[in-house]
Amino acid sequence: MWKTCHNIVPSKHVLKRRLHGKGHNDDLCPRCCEESESLEHILFFCPFGQAIWRASDFSYSPSSIGFPGMFKWWQKLPSLNKNGNLSEGLYLISFLCWTFWKSRNRLVFSDMVDSPIKVWLKAQEAFSEFSSFLTNKPEISPCTRRETSQWTPPNPGFLKVNCDASFDPNIGVDSGDVIFRDETRSFINGKLFSFSSRNASCAEALALRFVITSDVDSSFSHVVFESDNLGVIGRINSKTLSAWESAAIEQDILCIATPFPFFSFKFVNMLCNKAVDWVAKATRLGTCPNNWASCIPQELRVLL
Ligand SMILES: [Zn+2]
Repeated sequence: MWKTCHNIVPSKHVLKRRLHGKGHNDDLCPRCCEESESLEHILFFCPFGQAIWRASDFSYSPSSIGFPGMFKWWQKLPSLNKNGNLSEGLYLISFLCWTFWKSRNRLVFSDMVDSPIKVWLKAQEAFSEFSSFLTNKPEISPCTRRETSQWTPPNPGFLKVNCDASFDPNIGVDSGDVIFRDETRSFINGKLFSFSSRNASCAEALALRFVITSDVDSSFSHVVFESDNLGVIGRINSKTLSAWESAAIEQDILCIATPFPFFSFKFVNMLCNKAVDWVAKATRLGTCPNNWASCIPQELRVLL
């Protein structure tokens, strides 16, 4: 943040100024190609940066009108903090700015395009790792620091889709279920489906594939997919398809998700996935009513 406040981070704008244009005549932002790529543009005024702020917990909408400059903005940061914990908010914003810059470098040097949600989740992950080091507590999951015990609704304008799969090697037929909820915690829809797979990883990946296909068919475009299978979510987020038995399914999920910049995948622990877990268990036991999604059973309602 020190470099940021002193405007010495090597954005295209800074390089052009430093080199007096020698070899750096093009200082256009590589994302929007509309304005000079200053650090303030990257962090605040580029449409991509603005989408990240809106997707974040800060729900901040930066405006170039009356913007006081980076240093004064940093000094005024307490007004951005909503959770009452000043130091925690400042740390998180620092990690968010750093993740902005890393995402910009991935685009410029590796031609890799992140989604705004991914940048926000990466910032949370880095902040979570930092916090767990400070408090010397074992980390449960990099992405679930704020969601260790209960489901939390998505940001406004987004849907959260929780899915679960059960695998029974004796039967060879698996089932999965999915629940859609919005930022008001309202239950939007629920689906139950069956398929066959070879093992638990395949079952979880197939469940996720079914869910994402359903979303595309339903024209949902802003969706957070949550699963309690760390392996599948981790491999999809890192694009490291190292599990041979489910790699083809995970590759397919990535292909389906690629045109949707506001699709993201998140690991949650089982406590956050209680509602879909209830449907899966009740289905296995034969106690889940067929119309559970339209006439929600009381046992499920208390978990939503
Ligand atoms: Zn831009």
